[in-house]
Amino acid sequence: MGQEVAASVEPAVARGVVLVTGAASGIGLATARRCLADGFVVAVLDCDHEALEAAASELRRWGRVLPVGADVSVEVEVAAAVERVVDTFGELYAVVNAAGVGGYTGDVVLTGPSDWERVIGVNLTGTYLVCHASVPHLRAGGGGRVVNISSQYGLVGGAGSPAYAASKAGVVGLTRAMAVDHAPEGILVNCVCPGPIDTPMLRRSSSDGGPPAVAESQRVARRSLVPGPGRPEDVAGAVAYLLGPDGGHLTGLVLSVDGGWTAS
Ligand code: NAP
Repeated sequence: MGQEVAASVEPAVARGVVLVTGAASGIGLATARRCLADGFVVAVLDCDHEALEAAASELRRWGRVLPVGADVSVEVEVAAAVERVVDTFGELYAVVNAAGVGGYTGDVVLTGPSDWERVIGVNLTGTYLVCHASVPHLRAGGGGRVVNISSQYGLVGGAGSPAYAASKAGVVGLTRAMAVDHAPEGILVNCVCPGPIDTPMLRRSSSDGGPPAVAESQRVARRSLVPGPGRPEDVAGAVAYLLGPDGGHLTGLVLSVDGGWTAS
């Protein structure tokens, strides 16, 4: 009996290379830390080169780390970054798309075309571009995982953020479409929808958005079942589950990590 249990348990140390975007800060950084703790080799990508180098120096205490500077909204930069990861490590097991920009731009009249293009360009097109460049390498390795970070605003509306909500709903749709296409290749594609998480983005959106952003954050806080905000590590834990051995039967999943507020 003891032997049967032991045989069914996966080794504690996971293997493979995970590319985490937006890894210089917040949720991406916590995810990179968690991936290293779980035994993965990690490539960290961000457009903030200075913060990325600082993050990589810290992360190297826990394992093998490659920093790659790139803007996820620029196709040639993404293609070069993914090639560099594969050239360096010879494989790619998983991608976590955490790079993103906040989007308190006011209502649809106040949100100008340049706001719209910037938010959609990073949050939705950026996620697509990283998947576009990475999936051939996951396929070449016989399968893998993709985890996209969407948002509570990918599932429900929120004040003053039409571009952000559209970008994050697009990420949910992209996730489900990819899950259908790539399951036969052994590539599992899921997304995580965080509620308010205590990161530089959340702190910036409260301070930059003025009174309407503060009112929105109070509205969200009133509906949360678990007092928030959450920690970046709460999201990293959900990502770790989707990347790890227990996530082997999950694809097309939209996993809320929001203290229950979209349920209330
Ligand atoms: P964060 O602390 O600002 O981290 C995001 C990182 O992505 C930053 O280092 C940022 O660099 C980088 N980035 C931005 N644009 C990029 C680009 N074009 N190319 C490459 N890197 C880029 O934010 P976070 O709160 O951890 O957010 C991570 C993800 O979670 C985002 O997709 C966000 O929409 C989502 N999310 C966050 C919350 C929350 O409450 N925090 C809630 C729901 C969803 P810069 O600092 O230079 O911009």
